[in-house]
Amino acid sequence: LTLEPVSAACARCGLPWVRPVARCLSCLARAPPYRAARAPYEFGGAIARAIRRLKWGRLPELGRPLGRLLPAEALGSGDCVVPVPLHVRRLRARQFNQAALLVLGSAGERRLPPLELGGLERVRDTPPQSALGLAERRANLRGAFRALPDRVRGRRVVLVDDVLTTGATAEACTEALLDGGAAEVVVLTLARAVP
Ligand SMILES: [Zn+2]
Repeated sequence: LTLEPVSAACARCGLPWVRPVARCLSCLARAPPYRAARAPYEFGGAIARAIRRLKWGRLPELGRPLGRLLPAEALGSGDCVVPVPLHVRRLRARQFNQAALLVLGSAGERRLPPLELGGLERVRDTPPQSALGLAERRANLRGAFRALPDRVRGRRVVLVDDVLTTGATAEACTEALLDGGAAEVVVLTLARAVP
């Protein structure tokens, strides 16, 4: 079993680093729009298999044990929790949103800020991103998300997703939330891909 906890990271974007740093090279070159991104595990091994099973293996019951791995203090650091939304077409095909399942599974006996399922919507479906470079991913996602100002205005939002890869999705969601009046955005994912 391989679980690789992130022990030291960039304080801004959460990129695993040999020692804690305030800004990694990437953040020094270009600061992300979110206040911070956090992930308890590096993407790989058991956590990657579990996330793939949750998403593609149609095992939504994995949302509970995996959601419990999200750190409570990070989940509780905002005024509301917003999962990264799927486009309605993709939601219909998959029948569940894995990010929402993680949030729902994370609660248990813990007291967490309210879940705002409708705080952010995906208004444009986009082609799969895996073959694209970072600049193409950003262009691909421009205008793909829209926040509902009534749900997020003035609030500190904890944005949750299963895995942060390049950060392009988290950045597009953050920009939409800030456009909608959110006070700040902290990104929380179960795993962090290390390039
Ligand atoms: Zn960084």
